[in-house]
Amino acid sequence: MAGPRHHDVLVVGGGNAGISLAAKLRRDGCRDVAVVEPKQVHEYRPLLSYVASGMATLDDLRRPQSEVIPRGVRWHSDAVVGIEPERSLVRLASGKELTYTDLAVCPGSRVDWDAIPGAEEAMGTPAASTSYLPELAPGTWTRLSSLVAGTAVFAISDRHVPCAPVGLKPLFTAADHWRRTGVLDAITIELLVAGDRLVDLPRADDELRAAAESYGVHVRTGTSVESIDASTRSLRVRTPDGPTEVRYDALYLAPPHRAPDWLASSGLTSPASDGFLAVDPWTLQHRDHPTVWGLGDAASVDALPSGGALRKQVPVVAHNIAARRTGATMRRYDGYSIGPVTTSRRRLLLAEFDRDGRPEPTTPVPDLVRPRRSLLLFDRYVEPQVYWHRLLKGKVS
Ligand SMILES: Cc1cc2nc3c(=O)[nH]c(=O)nc-3n(C[C@H](O)[C@H](O)[C@H](O)COP(=O)(O)OP(=O)(O)OC[C@H]3O[C@@H](n4cnc5c(N)ncnc54)[C@H](O)[C@@H]3O)c2cc1C
Repeated sequence: MAGPRHHDVLVVGGGNAGISLAAKLRRDGCRDVAVVEPKQVHEYRPLLSYVASGMATLDDLRRPQSEVIPRGVRWHSDAVVGIEPERSLVRLASGKELTYTDLAVCPGSRVDWDAIPGAEEAMGTPAASTSYLPELAPGTWTRLSSLVAGTAVFAISDRHVPCAPVGLKPLFTAADHWRRTGVLDAITIELLVAGDRLVDLPRADDELRAAAESYGVHVRTGTSVESIDASTRSLRVRTPDGPTEVRYDALYLAPPHRAPDWLASSGLTSPASDGFLAVDPWTLQHRDHPTVWGLGDAASVDALPSGGALRKQVPVVAHNIAARRTGATMRRYDGYSIGPVTTSRRRLLLAEFDRDGRPEPTTPVPDLVRPRRSLLLFDRYVEPQVYWHRLLKGKVS
């Protein structure tokens, strides 16, 4: 009987990270690259924020997976259920097994409803929603745009939320809509942010707080949702001054996320990595298994997970896989990440920073931290094209 099929580089997950890396490896001359991905449809997830703002549809962000698999890359349409790094072996849901010389693990993260009792039930009601799940994003705008009076609560978790600052996009686009339609004064807007800042770049944080103030938003940092009671439309929240209750007529959550459970049972996590892949945050190489690499939302890299971060992580992993084999010097990922946030339905600011919160702008001029019309148009219309035609084609360096 034939043994498991072998691949030179095997990539787990065909999302933003996996497809960009597979394409980059092919461009760099790697002849045998395979991707394991169960979904038939690929999504450009940043547009979900615009779906939740009534500025895009789900059709705008979806393409058949078969169209994004890079030429020359083998697609295993299957799900990984376990990895045995000592045997360089990956087990699939179909029962098949694959072996590898190097393995890149990037299955992303998923919403962790268990972390907030009552949250999943609340999401089943018309009053509550999130942009973090495609099936709920359109309803977010339906609810927010139809509100004419009452309390709207927006809550941003600090537990592994992909590109967490974009959770503010539905708030600012809704507040702008309420102002334009003349109902803003009748709506109390509560923003509950678990972290200390709205975004990890002080100047951008100042801009966002000023925008929030202009709409009369009550900003509470260090405040997280502990549980939700959908029947009374109330949240139990923890604040720096102790627990309290907040009622809502409309609720938006940027919910906590967690890594796939099979990562921990494969022995690829550590107590410090909170269930995420335990890699060296600089080289993105696994701490105990040198032929295993991690990137994207599933990896513990001591930086805000985002698609923007992958622009820097993908070339690092592609280079370091080759460097491990030849003994060349490894490249390092400095924790670069981004937070593109709309401050209205017309303007957006772009925060770019490293893992220490130091600014790392792609271009110093113009000042991208100042909200601009051109930036919103770029984020909504040009970035998706860059994603499909450059990032997923491995055109990163
Ligand atoms: C609402 C929202 C808005 C966002 N906005 C922005 C933004 O404006 N800018 C920005 O830079 N970033 C943004 N992000 C973050 C960005 O989308 C993610 O950081 C990026 O998609 C991470 O890529 P990834 O490949 O690690 O994970 P994903 O894109 O989630 O891909 C993971 C892939 O792995 C697959 N997979 C899962 N389990 C298995 C398995 N067992 N076996 C095989 N495959 C598996 C999944 O099906 C999926 O295709 C946003 C995210 C969301 C949800």
